[in-house]
Amino acid sequence: MKLRKCPECKRYTLKEVCRSCESATITPAPPKFSPVDKFGRWRRKLIKKEYN
Ligand SMILES: [Zn+2]
Repeated sequence: MKLRKCPECKRYTLKEVCRSCESATITPAPPKFSPVDKFGRWRRKLIKKEYN
């Protein structure tokens, strides 16, 4: 079972359609930000800056 969220009511639900406003619910992005990836991107930006 996946927790879904209504973008209109900002309510969490398990249904694909919100029961109160009937809009399609979304799956909130999991807080799985990879700090390594973020850092890698930042470094790439920095390298690019150095080249310019
Ligand atoms: Zn709703």
